[in-house]
Amino acid sequence: MTFEALGLNTSILKALTEAGYTKPTTVQEQAVPAALQGRDLMVSSQTGSGKTAAFMLPALNKFALAEEQPQSGAKTANQERQAARARGDRPRFQPAQPKMLVLTPTRELALQVTNATTKYGANLRRVRAVSILGGMPYPKQMQLLAKNPEILVATPGRLIDHMESGKINFSQLEILVLDEADRMLDMGFIEDIEKIVAATPETRQTMLFSATLDGVVGNMAKRITREPMVIQI
Ligand code: AMP
Repeated sequence: MTFEALGLNTSILKALTEAGYTKPTTVQEQAVPAALQGRDLMVSSQTGSGKTAAFMLPALNKFALAEEQPQSGAKTANQERQAARARGDRPRFQPAQPKMLVLTPTRELALQVTNATTKYGANLRRVRAVSILGGMPYPKQMQLLAKNPEILVATPGRLIDHMESGKINFSQLEILVLDEADRMLDMGFIEDIEKIVAATPETRQTMLFSATLDGVVGNMAKRITREPMVIQI
């Protein structure tokens, strides 16, 4: 199996070659084609299996296709912001409206996912990923959110703070990923996760990755996905 055969866009294929990846891992082979079709996923896989690319490549592919579309008359949120600045309008705070959210249990994993995203999306012009993490100074995070990044990678607690203070709005969210969902539940994040999921559109694509799909995490996975493809590695 090759990355070409999975149906990925040339700018993403180029980034994978540059990263030195020659062929997809098992989880990538199974997850990428289904995710490219917009399907929800429930995946049991371990760290080191290549799961980050399994959810990030299809997501980036979707954003790459959107970049290729001729611009419609409607301005994007970021174009509106630029136009307002050019008119000299008094800057007023607008919440970030990400298209994709990745929830992770730890700061370390969030940073890894953000770095991987930057690598896989190196040839895409309009895709920026930022991490929103507990322990990071608020002014720094406000600066990141003010740029209205397409992709947020966050730990649940800090994200809730920003959501509740109106700094982030999920009405434009297209893709939600729960990475290492079992660990997030073990760490007591279930209520935060439920709150975050409830704030996102029901039309979203949801991909959940976990070491196990048994018990509480399996029940949550079923609640938040729709007709998911179940992949057990
Ligand atoms: P992950 O399970 O997503 O944390 O990935 C584990 C490691 O495998 C990371 O260092 C990735 O950069 C690397 N990796 C992911 N997919 C591939 C691939 N198809 N070929 C080679 N390395 C990969």
